[in-house]
Amino acid sequence: MVSKCPGQDTRFWGPDDIYSVECPKCGRAVEFFKDDIRRRCRHCGFMFLNPRLDLGCATWCQYAEQCVGAMGRDEFREILTLAVKDYFDGDRERINDSLKILEFAERILEKEGGNPKVVIAAAVLREIGLGEEDKGAHKAGKSNDEGDRLDVVKAILERSGSTKEIVEEVSQIIQEQLHNRRIDTLNSKIVYDAGRLAGLSADSESLNKAQLKEAIKETFLTPTGRKIAEELYL
Ligand SMILES: [Zn+2]
Repeated sequence: MVSKCPGQDTRFWGPDDIYSVECPKCGRAVEFFKDDIRRRCRHCGFMFLNPRLDLGCATWCQYAEQCVGAMGRDEFREILTLAVKDYFDGDRERINDSLKILEFAERILEKEGGNPKVVIAAAVLREIGLGEEDKGAHKAGKSNDEGDRLDVVKAILERSGSTKEIVEEVSQIIQEQLHNRRIDTLNSKIVYDAGRLAGLSADSESLNKAQLKEAIKETFLTPTGRKIAEELYL
């Protein structure tokens, strides 16, 4: 077991790697190291996530497994969710869409299998990657260029300590769905279906039952995705 990897050895850190963050509850300053996942406010006792968490070294470090081994699924989900909220900066609609897609993806994941890290990441970051015209990126004052959006997705994943393989697979899933490419992997199918489930709630207002039935029959790629759609909308 390795206690410190070079990227997380504070001797190599600069002044920006230790900073203070306002406690979301009492507003006092709490000091964070860039690789602290969470800290407790000494004044009010509130425990919160590091909004500028940077576990970037994990993408190249051979000891990455040990370094971020302590990070569980809940923490990973929470870190990514925080990054999405930060990116969409108060745009409730896009934030809610992202959370809805994530929730559906986890329901499908439970029944279909798949890689939880890849599916969770691709589902919650999908809206950033897809960045529909006049929505999201545009509203949040961010670049709506596809390459820039993918760079944002990759940077968020790197900061969350994801391995290179995960960063690559998530980018691939987002690009497949952005360009309507053929979807072959289970992870990508789950994320696609989760996106469809979230989209159907908007469609369900304009379509009648027969049209909805047809849409559900045609579009889902996993049996669990289709089943959830039928339960919700038929
Ligand atoms: Zn506090």
